[in-house]
Amino acid sequence: MTGLSIREDLAAIPEYRQGKSASADLSDLETYKISSNENPYTPLPSVQTLIAELAGTVNRYPDSSGAALVGALSEQHGVATENIVLGSGSIEIMSQLIRATAGPGDEVLFAWRSFEAYPMLVRAGGAEPVMVPLDADLCHDLDAMLAAITDRTRLILVCNPNNPTGTTVSAEALERFLEQVPENITVVIDEAYQHFNRQEDAPVGVEIFKRRSNIAVAHTFSKAYGLAGLRVGYAIAPAPLARAMRAVAIPFGVTAFAQAAAVLSLEVEDELQVRVDALIAERERVVEALALAGVSHPETQANFVWLPLGEATPEAATLLEQAGLIVRPFPGEGLRATIAETEANDRLIAFAKSLQRN
Ligand SMILES: *Cc1c(COP(=O)(O)O)cnc(C)c1O
Repeated sequence: MTGLSIREDLAAIPEYRQGKSASADLSDLETYKISSNENPYTPLPSVQTLIAELAGTVNRYPDSSGAALVGALSEQHGVATENIVLGSGSIEIMSQLIRATAGPGDEVLFAWRSFEAYPMLVRAGGAEPVMVPLDADLCHDLDAMLAAITDRTRLILVCNPNNPTGTTVSAEALERFLEQVPENITVVIDEAYQHFNRQEDAPVGVEIFKRRSNIAVAHTFSKAYGLAGLRVGYAIAPAPLARAMRAVAIPFGVTAFAQAAAVLSLEVEDELQVRVDALIAERERVVEALALAGVSHPETQANFVWLPLGEATPEAATLLEQAGLIVRPFPGEGLRATIAETEANDRLIAFAKSLQRN
């Protein structure tokens, strides 16, 4: 016993498991890491050049207000700069939202299974996670979530499309839900995969933010924009909440590299959209193959597919690993596989065909 004073409630938080890396030890078979929903494309040459140019400036702190990026985002979304908060990835944005609204004795409500970071961030903030099971289609069960609201609920997280199931709620269903949520409770729409959402009746968080007073939207540059390693995300939030988020943010948490690369990415969004479109075409190719093989799975609107393999999950993950694919298994439930390089997708399709034979 060292006798150090450490918050006892933190001992119960499981450590975040990062998606396994592709290992080099599988002889000469190239392995692909399709466990973290990263973008398979390397950064645009213009982004790489910019990062190299900034290398000579790292003796200085970054602009703590992120003025250039905040300005660019304000213009893109048609919202005031005071509504935009930057974070070291949208994971930090979620952490800011939780710590700005909830503490000991408070509840943060979200669907489960959903993004693994949520329960950890809620507990780290000292609040209580309330996890409402997904419905039979592995979508948010918004009625059950409504029923789970108590007078201790401070924040509701809606992950749309949902990680790891890929499902999206409809704009109409979300609207009906929001009508009934008490106005003092903030509803966060985590749109990490928004660029990949092609469902016609899908909600658009920013539009809802503009109509309602208790909505915050979380976006990231890690997925569609392909900047996961730089760590930059942002929220669009009501001004008083945005101020509280800045108060709990890590000072200088967004580096100059991240700010500059994000600004440039917004300028070349057309170029990045071509890549998103290509990934969506690849997603369709994988989904068609799964259908042909008779592998049932929820409809995905993200850059990954969820295979609900239940008890067969660990075995499937091992088979995939032998085929050079590192996926994200959730034993007893299913596995999540990122739509990635063409070769990786081909191997996933071959795996789907092998399931059909069994
Ligand atoms: C990947 C992901 C994020 C974004 O994480 P960053 O910290 O921005 O890299 C946020 N929410 C969900 C649901 C995600 O899957």
